[in-house]
Order: sequence, then structure tokens, then C-alpha cells
Amino acid sequence: MRVLIVEDEPSLAEFLRQGLEEHGCAVSVATDGHMGLAAAEEGGFDVVVLDILLPALNGLEVCRRLRLQRPALPILMLTALGTTTDTVRGLEAGADDYVTKPFAFDELLARVRALARRVLGAAIDVPPLRVADLSIDTLRRRVQRGDVELALTPREYALLVEFVRNPGKTFSRAELAERVWGVDFDTGTNVIDVYVNYLRNKVDKPFPTKLIHTVFGVGYVMRLPEAV
Ligand code: CA
Repeated sequence: MRVLIVEDEPSLAEFLRQGLEEHGCAVSVATDGHMGLAAAEEGGFDVVVLDILLPALNGLEVCRRLRLQRPALPILMLTALGTTTDTVRGLEAGADDYVTKPFAFDELLARVRALARRVLGAAIDVPPLRVADLSIDTLRRRVQRGDVELALTPREYALLVEFVRNPGKTFSRAELAERVWGVDFDTGTNVIDVYVNYLRNKVDKPFPTKLIHTVFGVGYVMRLPEAV
């Protein structure tokens, strides 16, 4: 299990590193918010342990930004004793769990393990969704074409999942609006076209084979490339 610790107090960071390493984890430490965010975005971690009070960029902001980039990466927040508001804000910012300082190491270890299990354990049972060379790991919310990982916003991701679950199905704009946004749009709006366009720029444009096609007067369809 690979753990990223974002903590600016050297003694606490070292205490966590030693403890986690003794229990078989590979540990990296970042000592401010910017470093933490950059390391986490690069990927390769199963869990992030994130302090709130950090230099450069506070933990809540790191958490918020990370949620957009890596929606499925488990985040354990370290909050200070007696600050219920910090805890609430941490969870609102997208943290999966929290531990209140001061804490017993065993408690932290148990929570880190529980979070990692949620992601790693379940991953074994969920095969990725695939169309051609496009694959979606729905558990980690990772999208790849070939070997290239694509960074999608939550809305783009939801839209892509609809297409990939239903290859060959032509969706009307109203259908996509209902499935992805959960609303009926005014017929006058072009928000669906705008989002399909965002998605195409990431999923199709950089690659030789196009998967999302316009069906004129009807809507959009994801089609497998023609067999050669
Ligand atoms: Ca701190």
C-alpha cells in the first residue's frame, strides 16, 4: 500500500512515516500544500493522509482540488481536537474520513487500511468498461485511451460513462440531459453540445480513431471503429 503524508510538522510526519513503513506501507512525505497536491496528482498512491493547517495551500483546498483530479483517491484528513467545524469542512471538501489530533497510531492505521481496502479490495471484482482502446476504471474513475490517461471533469466523466455503457445507441440531447444532469433542459440550450465537444477534445481529438459521432438531427452515438 502506498501512502502520501501531507504534514508540515516534521516530528509528526516522521512518526507517521516510521509507523506506516513498519506496517509494510511505502510512504512519501510532502511538507506543504503545493507539494502535497503535486505529488497526489502525479498518482501512484492508494491513500492520502492530509493535515488541514499547512503552509502554501491549506489542506481543505488541497482536498477540494484533488477531488476534481482524482475523484476516487481516498483522503484521510487530520483535524485538530475540539474544532468540529474543521471536521465538517474537511468532509465537505471531499475527505473520506478524518482522525482528530492527538490520535493513537493504531487508530490512524486502522482507518488508512479501511480506506485502502475500499478501493483496492473492490477493484479486483470490477472489470473496466471498454470500447475499442478506451477503458474506464469505474472504481478509481480513471479513463484511458491506449496508454494515455485522460483527465475528465465529473460531468464529462458521467457523460462518457453513458456512451461507453451503451455503444451503438444513439442518444438524443434530451436523453443525455436527463441521464447525466438529471434534468430536462430547455430545448433552446446547447449545453449538451458544449459538453460533448469538451469530451471529444479529450477523448477523440488527440487520437486517430474517433469514437463519438454526431447523428444529424438526432443526437450522438459512440461507435466502434469500422473493422478494417
Ligand atoms: Ca500542520
